[in-house]
Amino acid sequence: MPDKGYLKKLRIPTNENPLRVLVSACLVGVKCGVDGDDYGDYPSVLKLLNYDNVKLIPFCPEDLSFGTPRETCDIYEGDGFDVLEGKAKVLTSSGIDWTTGMIKASEKMLKIARDNKIELAIMMDVSAACGNHVIYDGNRFAENKKYQIGMGVCGAQLSRSGYQIISWREYESLEILYSRIDPTHTINKNAKDFDQHEWYKTYFKK
Ligand code: SF4
Repeated sequence: MPDKGYLKKLRIPTNENPLRVLVSACLVGVKCGVDGDDYGDYPSVLKLLNYDNVKLIPFCPEDLSFGTPRETCDIYEGDGFDVLEGKAKVLTSSGIDWTTGMIKASEKMLKIARDNKIELAIMMDVSAACGNHVIYDGNRFAENKKYQIGMGVCGAQLSRSGYQIISWREYESLEILYSRIDPTHTINKNAKDFDQHEWYKTYFKK
């Protein structure tokens, strides 16, 4: 869940010293989705490309380990933290165990974060790799598919090393981010984070 206090205290970046942001590659148009496409347009993130005082570092962990195109995978019996602790598995929709490859991809993502001294990560949600707030609970193609609050494996890897992550749909948090990088930005007070939406509140009975 985004730490709005952290976002409010982000330094004001300059062109000479831009804000370093690790981003799920598919969010900025890289065709690394399971079917070899991106997953559509994400204006809330794409807008960052317009700023010289933001340095985006795109990375697709699944592409690293499994290539593109590839099968879809989900986490079974837990979330990304459980996978890293050996208590849950990552399986493809045809049942192939991708746990080891996913952990390897998460370690690479952590290395990229460290090498680039990132100050924030913006990631795709519901992915077994990049998910950072809500992910599927087991097979997303099951008739009775379920969601859980939790992180994917790469989200968990970054989070347990102290990196702050927001998802592309945390609109309130993104508004705070834009107010830090753009002095002319007026915060949209109606923007909501994921957990303030009716679907989320109803589904998780908040
Ligand atoms: S969500 Fe992550 S793993 Fe999936 S396509 Fe996007 S960058 Fe790659």
